[in-house]
Amino acid sequence: MNKILILGAGFGGLETATGLAEVLDDGHQITLVDRNDAFFVGFSKVEVLFGRATAREVSYPYERLRAEGVRFVRDTITGIDTAASVVRTTGHTLPYDYLVVALGADLDHAAVPGFVESGGHEFYSMRGAEALAPVLREFRSGRLVLAIFRSVYKCPPAPYEVACQLDEFFVAAGVRDAIDLSMLIPTPRPVPSPDVSALLEARLAEHGVQLLSEHPIESIDAAARRALMPNGAVEYDLLVGVPVHVPPAVVVRAGLTDGGFVPVDRVTLETAVPGVFAVGDVTTIPVGDKLVPKAGAFAEDAARTVVSEILRQEGLVSERVPFEARGACYAELGSGEVARLDADFLGGDAPRMTVEGPSAELGRDKERFASSRRDRWFRVPAAS
Ligand SMILES: Cc1cc2nc3c(=O)[nH]c(=O)nc-3n(C[C@H](O)[C@H](O)[C@H](O)COP(=O)(O)OP(=O)(O)OC[C@H]3O[C@@H](n4cnc5c(N)ncnc54)[C@H](O)[C@@H]3O)c2cc1C
Repeated sequence: MNKILILGAGFGGLETATGLAEVLDDGHQITLVDRNDAFFVGFSKVEVLFGRATAREVSYPYERLRAEGVRFVRDTITGIDTAASVVRTTGHTLPYDYLVVALGADLDHAAVPGFVESGGHEFYSMRGAEALAPVLREFRSGRLVLAIFRSVYKCPPAPYEVACQLDEFFVAAGVRDAIDLSMLIPTPRPVPSPDVSALLEARLAEHGVQLLSEHPIESIDAAARRALMPNGAVEYDLLVGVPVHVPPAVVVRAGLTDGGFVPVDRVTLETAVPGVFAVGDVTTIPVGDKLVPKAGAFAEDAARTVVSEILRQEGLVSERVPFEARGACYAELGSGEVARLDADFLGGDAPRMTVEGPSAELGRDKERFASSRRDRWFRVPAAS
């Protein structure tokens, strides 16, 4: 029996498991491993941050996986031995014939010295969003600085939507006049596309958020409440960071990285080790002078290609689904209006990024984005 082992049950892992289960029969064993007991859509962390939902309300428990015949193992992966074709978890040794690494990107809070001491406030993990929510509720006056520490991070528009929503949150709390909102970014403009950058900059200005570009924070003096960078320092009362994203340590130890994330073949998504694939945020895929963005939609796109490649190698299909590095991120930029930022990196001659909206209709599109994944991957709606 051929064993297919999928590490990580996020966007990439769930789509790989679901796609394979649709086609493969009992002659194959599909195992999906994750240390968590439930999945969250990335943008649901923003709902939790602003108190519009609880983590439980936006979680989809893995015990309700729709894919038939997929064995789910809840455990922490501690070792990947590609020479012996086995993966070790805290409780199991799992051999494989095909391995799909979909472990996402980890957040390294310690990468910017002083960030942890400053409170380590962030909303890129569910735990971080839950912890920051009451801090925001209690913040009544002073300077709030939202800082993107490095240029590679998930869903590039997400911090900008949070900045716009912070304005509305403090207006609703009746304290906006006493709060100064600033955003620090390491790059000259928000994203590589001038059109998308122009929209995000305009929305920040409308919401009274000062944008300080080319401000790469190197360290934080938590006692003095100063963020330090080569070109000076910025004072704050509350610092919220988008932490440095790094590949999971277990992937680095396995020798699958080359100093950054996991390089893969752009056509097959295979790593340097035959039979070992990687999809989603854990990978690095250069296209010209750009990198394929880290976002759920791109992880799914890669998963569809890997599913077809495994089926092709098994002799079950003749064609591989091309990897186009195509996907969308949603940004709710205030007043319930949502912009959709579409990117297509490999479908044409050069990477293309376009923006639609913001509009209320795209808000419904964003809801459909989440509900369609829920319905494809899980048997029932989120727990209430
Ligand atoms: C605020 C915010 C808004 C976003 N909005 C969008 C959006 O609009 N559109 C979009 O496409 N994307 C969006 N994203 C990005 C999206 O959530 C990620 O890019 C996506 O989840 C990546 O999918 P993945 O499968 O590569 O990794 P993940 O979804 O991160 O999954 C990785 C899985 O691996 C597991 N794991 C890691 N290490 C181990 C280990 N050692 N042992 C066991 N399990 C482990 C984790 O528990 C996790 O479940 C947003 C993200 C954030 C934070």
